[in-house]
Amino acid sequence: MYRGMNNSSALLYLIASVLFILALKGLSHPASARRGNVYGMVGMGIAILTTLALPGISNYAMIIFGGLMGGTIGAVIARKIQMTAMPQLVAAFHSLVGMAAVLVAMAALWSPESYGIGNSGSIHTGSLIEMSLGAVIGAITFSGSVIAFAKLQGIMSGKPLRFSGQHMFNAFAGVTLLLLLIIFCASESKLAFVAMTLLAFAIGVLLIVPIGGADMPVVVSMLNSYSGWAASGIGFTLGNPLLIITGALVGASGAILSYIMCKAMNRSIINVIFGGFGGETASAYAKASVDRPVKNGSAEDAAFLLKNASSVIIVPGYGMAVAQAQHALREMAQTLEEEGIKVRYAIHPVAGRMPGHMNVLLAEANVPYDSVVELEEINNDFASTDVAFVIGANDVTNPAAKNNPQSPIFGMPILDVGLAKTVIFIKRSMAAGYAGIENELFYQDNTMMLFGDAKKVTEDMVKALKH
Ligand code: NDP
Repeated sequence: MYRGMNNSSALLYLIASVLFILALKGLSHPASARRGNVYGMVGMGIAILTTLALPGISNYAMIIFGGLMGGTIGAVIARKIQMTAMPQLVAAFHSLVGMAAVLVAMAALWSPESYGIGNSGSIHTGSLIEMSLGAVIGAITFSGSVIAFAKLQGIMSGKPLRFSGQHMFNAFAGVTLLLLLIIFCASESKLAFVAMTLLAFAIGVLLIVPIGGADMPVVVSMLNSYSGWAASGIGFTLGNPLLIITGALVGASGAILSYIMCKAMNRSIINVIFGGFGGETASAYAKASVDRPVKNGSAEDAAFLLKNASSVIIVPGYGMAVAQAQHALREMAQTLEEEGIKVRYAIHPVAGRMPGHMNVLLAEANVPYDSVVELEEINNDFASTDVAFVIGANDVTNPAAKNNPQSPIFGMPILDVGLAKTVIFIKRSMAAGYAGIENELFYQDNTMMLFGDAKKVTEDMVKALKH
C-alpha cells in the first residue's frame, strides 16, 4: 500500500483530499459553487503535481504527450458541446473511467512486478481481489455508460428493452460472474480474468437496456457512482491513496444523488433497476392526442395576462435549455417585478436532462437565488397564484403522474401548475416530453398554449410588456 510515497507526498495528498471535500460542499449551493470549483481545481493541481513528483514516476515524455492529447480533446469538446448534450457527454466520460479501470487491472495482472504486487503466478490475494473488483465495476461502468450514451443521444431507443426471463437471465449472469471472480482470485487464471471481464461488459448492457424513459436521470447518477468506485478500484491496484479517496467521494456522492433522484421520482432504486419503467405505455398515450381543441394564444395575449397578475410562478424545463431562453426569461421576470408583480421560479428535481440543469441555466442568467424555489417548498403556492408560466417543461407538470396508474411516470411528484388561475405553456407543438406521454393539462379550461421557440416567444413577450 502507498507504494513509492514519502511523508510530504502523503501530506500533499491529504491536503488535496480535504480540498476535494470542500469543493463538494461548495457545489451544494449555487452561491458557493464558484468557490467550490476553485477548491476543486487547486486540489486537482496539487494532486497532479504531487503524483508527477512521486519517486516511481519517470517517463515524463509519455505523460506529457498523453496529457496534451487528452487535454486538447477535452478542451475542444468542452468548447463545442451544447448544454443540452451534457447528459450524454457525462455518460461518455463515465465510460472512459470504466475502461481505464479495466485496462489498469489488465496491466497489473500481466505485469505485477511493475505494480509491486508480487510476481506473475504469485500475486498477493488482496491485490487479486482489488484488481478483479476494479475490472468488474469498470467493465459494467463502461458498457452501461455506452448504452446510456446511445439512449440519451437518440442513437438507441429510449424505451426500456425487455425480454421474457430477463430477471432470471440476469441473476444467472450475476452468479456466474461471482464464481469466475472467486476462481480468478484463487487461481490467478488469466482465462478466468478475461471471461469475468467479458461477462461484466455484458452485464453492464443487460443492466441498462431495461431502464428507459423517465428513469434515465437515475441511470446517469448511478453510473456516476459506479465510475467513482471503479476509480477507487484503480487506486487500490496502483497503491494510490488519493485515487482511492477521490473515487470513494465520487462513488458516494453519485450514490447520494441517485437516492435524491429516486426520491424526486418516488421510485426505489431496486424498482428502477429491475422495474424497466418509462416508455412501455408511452406510444399509446402519444397517439391519443389527435385533434382535440386547445386554447391557443399569442405573445401579446400572454403579456396581457402576466401584466394583470399579482403573482407569477415560472416553471422552466428542458425546452428552455434547448432554446437557451433563460436570458430573455430573466428580462421578462425583471420587467414584471418592476411592475410590482411577485415572480418566482419553481424547480422540479428532474427538470431538463441532468441534475441541477435548470439551476445552472438560471444562475448563468443571473436570476437571484432566493427567487428559485424547490418543488416541496413551492407546490402549495400554485393554488394561490395567478399565472403558472411553463416554459419548455412538460413531464414535470403532467398530472398523469398522480391520477393514472398506467402512466410510466405514475408516482412521480409533479409541480401542480394546473391549480393556478391560469396556466401558460410555451412549447413548439403538441408533442410529448421525454417520457413520451400526453399531458392533459394542455386541454384544461384555464390553460393557454403559446406555440413557438421558447426564446423567440419570450422575447416577443418582453417587447409586448414594454410597449
Ligand atoms: P420534457 O422533456 O418533459 O418536455 C420538454 C418540452 O420542451 C417538450 O415537450 C418540447 O415540446 C419542449 N421544447 C423542446 N424544445 C423547445 C424549444 N426550443 N422551445 C420551446 N419548447 C421546446 O422536459 P421536462 O423538463 O418537463 O422533464 C424532464 C424529463 O426528462 C423527465 O421525463 C425526466 O425524467 C427526463 N430526464 C431528466 C434527466 C435529469 O437528470 N434531469 C435526465 C434524463 C431524462 P415541443 O417539442 O412541442 O416544443
